[in-house]
Amino acid sequence: MPLYEYRCRKCGKIFELFHKMSEDASNTPCPECGEVGPEKQMSAVSSVSKGGGVESLASSSCGPGGGGGGFS
Ligand SMILES: [Zn+2]
Repeated sequence: MPLYEYRCRKCGKIFELFHKMSEDASNTPCPECGEVGPEKQMSAVSSVSKGGGVESLASSSCGPGGGGGGFS
């Protein structure tokens, strides 16, 4: 089950919730003040994996050069 991060609209408390993708935590009360309707935060994980993809392309183009060192 994916982990989602929410921020309370009232007090700004950030808390994490496990729930199914199809479900919504819009009626989950804030653990701090009890306000319902927390704001869903964009997961940082997706942007990290995007950056990782670019980085792996760069390192693969670097690979043949490193392979030359292993030839000796
Ligand atoms: Zn709150």
